[in-house]
Amino acid sequence: MPDSPTAELMDGTALARRILAETGERAVAFLASAGREPCLAAVLVGDDPASVTYVKMKRARSRAAGVESRLVTLPSTARTSEVVAAVDELSGDATVDGILLQHPVPSQVDERAVFEAIAPAKDVDGVTAHSFAAMALDLPGFPSCTAAGIIHLLDAYGVDLSGRHAVVIGRSPILGKPIGMLLLSGDATITYCHSHTRDLAAIVATADIVIAAVGRPNFVRGDWIKPGAVVVDAGYNPGNVGDVAFDEAIATAGLITPVPGGVGPMTIALLIEHTVTAAEQRHGPRSSRAST
Ligand code: NAP
Repeated sequence: MPDSPTAELMDGTALARRILAETGERAVAFLASAGREPCLAAVLVGDDPASVTYVKMKRARSRAAGVESRLVTLPSTARTSEVVAAVDELSGDATVDGILLQHPVPSQVDERAVFEAIAPAKDVDGVTAHSFAAMALDLPGFPSCTAAGIIHLLDAYGVDLSGRHAVVIGRSPILGKPIGMLLLSGDATITYCHSHTRDLAAIVATADIVIAAVGRPNFVRGDWIKPGAVVVDAGYNPGNVGDVAFDEAIATAGLITPVPGGVGPMTIALLIEHTVTAAEQRHGPRSSRAST
């Protein structure tokens, strides 16, 4: 009996390791010229266990790459004004290069108001309206780390975007919308799908590139996938489960990201890379090396 065809895996762990190694070298050079490490400040509101774990992981990776990790914590009862004040202080602190608000924040906090308190030059996760507009207009600025990480992965695996039909499932401001905009900049033809979309399976079946950004385990089924399509699973659900039914999709796709080990490590690598770029940009001559 012939073997079933299986997709090639897009190894985000390996690519992230390479990006972090190069970023670490730039962080060392920055330390030598600026007299301090590049600094990423994380703001954590409350004690949601998943958020605490994400922040811990991001801090450990930052330190390993020679990037100072500062943590500002606020209680789960914090008001919007208190979180905005904390972010304002970081925006004005000359020794902070990047600011990350770990989200979601508790429901009484106006997340958008807090995002907008991040100075655009320090908005290393591309959450402000300024960063989103810059990305949409192909102007300098930092795009969402997850979206940028996906573009890096596609590029590393030689996926030509031009003229391809990309279906993005999800339209959140931090993930679905920005990845669609970046794919559009790469000359792909984009269809956004969301919770009101009709005949989702039929639309996905027309996709050369599928981006799953839904937040529902095993939501995208293998028989929706066009043979040979590129499948990127940005979903991360409890139990390390993605948004794509991986065991099914691997039989049909041409390229696919695993969960874990696909998009997740790329997000963290890009966060740290953006922070070092922000530091270089704010401190002069080395800005010529800025990327992304
Ligand atoms: P989100 O804000 O909850 O957005 C989910 C999107 O999915 C929404 O646009 C929603 O549509 C759409 N959706 C929900 N049910 C649907 C359905 N039945 N059919 C079609 N679309 C549907 O989530 P998010 O923050 O974008 O995150 C999405 C996933 O990515 C989560 O698993 C999250 O953990 C993961 N994530 C991973 C990383 C990483 O680094 N790997 C980073 C960020 C997020 P509506 O707009 O109509 O409600």
